[in-house]
Amino acid sequence: MSFREIFEQHSWEAVQESIYSKTSADVERALAKRKRDIEDFKALISPVAAPYLEQMAQLSHRLTVQRFGKVISLYVPFYLSNECQNICTYCGFSFTNKIPRRTLNDAEIQREIAAIKAMGFEHVLLVTGEANKTVGMDYFEHALDLIVPHFANVSMEVQPLDEPDYRRLVAKGVYAVLVYQETYRQATYREYHPKGKKSNFFYRLDTPDRLGRAGIHKIGLGALIGLEDWRTDSFFVALHLDYLKRRYWQTKYSISFPRLRPHEGEFEPKVHITDRELVQLICAYRLLDGDVELSLSTRESPKFRDHVLKLGITSMSAGSRTNPGGYAVDPQTLEQFETDDTRSPQEVAAMIRRQGYEAVWKDWDASLFLNQAKHAFDRRKLTI
Ligand code: SF4
Repeated sequence: MSFREIFEQHSWEAVQESIYSKTSADVERALAKRKRDIEDFKALISPVAAPYLEQMAQLSHRLTVQRFGKVISLYVPFYLSNECQNICTYCGFSFTNKIPRRTLNDAEIQREIAAIKAMGFEHVLLVTGEANKTVGMDYFEHALDLIVPHFANVSMEVQPLDEPDYRRLVAKGVYAVLVYQETYRQATYREYHPKGKKSNFFYRLDTPDRLGRAGIHKIGLGALIGLEDWRTDSFFVALHLDYLKRRYWQTKYSISFPRLRPHEGEFEPKVHITDRELVQLICAYRLLDGDVELSLSTRESPKFRDHVLKLGITSMSAGSRTNPGGYAVDPQTLEQFETDDTRSPQEVAAMIRRQGYEAVWKDWDASLFLNQAKHAFDRRKLTI
């Protein structure tokens, strides 16, 4: 069984109609509950929940502090390559965009590591485009050998892979993999992904299942806000999370809510979400799930990030560059998208502290994880 079977029981149109027909009574019922379900989530993201935002924000803040304390984990994206064989109509790295392509070599990776370490980071998110021939498993494993010894936490956001490949990444010390469905609207998914492996909707949809089976420590989910109705897409993210938590209960989960940003190319977002609506969505995720990590990137403005920090967020990127070599090797090359919060990591950390929170650079140690994996492996050998 995989999420596909659950997914196919829900039509996009019926879900959308159900969200938009929620009433104030549904919202009040959801707010009054201690444990909320996916129907409550629909009510909380619906337009009629807008007047309840203050109450949602207070509840979300309280739940987050209870579970996570007053702590924000900091991470930074580490782009290794902008080569990509896919056409994604909304992305600066899309195959048809005439931009200089670059994949970092060993020496360049080492220079980037040094620059990122100098900024204070212990948690990096490795990012590449989807170009199997140049940035496939061999490249990943070699790059991980160079990178993992220097950081406490290495996560990845690369092309969806097969289950055995994920097992190899776990063995190399990868802690988390992020894979966003972009949109769960199957009928239009192809319009945004007309060519390349990414156009296979169900291979992407089944990726978190493959990750769960491979025993990854954490899976990141999300939808790209700007493609299709954000409420309906967010429902499917929540449905996906609900399924995965039941099936792979030892795995941790995080959710991101990236809004489309300006980039190379001419794509215009089809839908917009206001700042207030994004706050509503963040709070709704928290009220649905007290344990899920909620992550906010530098796509958002400093003002928005400062404001929303206490309302459910648990991790933030800072000082991000979205181009390969962006920290030391070649800072001027074209970025995947423009970031909005361009403050330095130290400025972001100071802002977090001013709000009475702790900025955490190291929330996980890969050596601990590798030792655990080794002990489990040794125990298995003893019992065979
Ligand atoms: S979103 Fe990813 S797969 Fe699509 S063009 Fe950009 S880098 Fe390539």
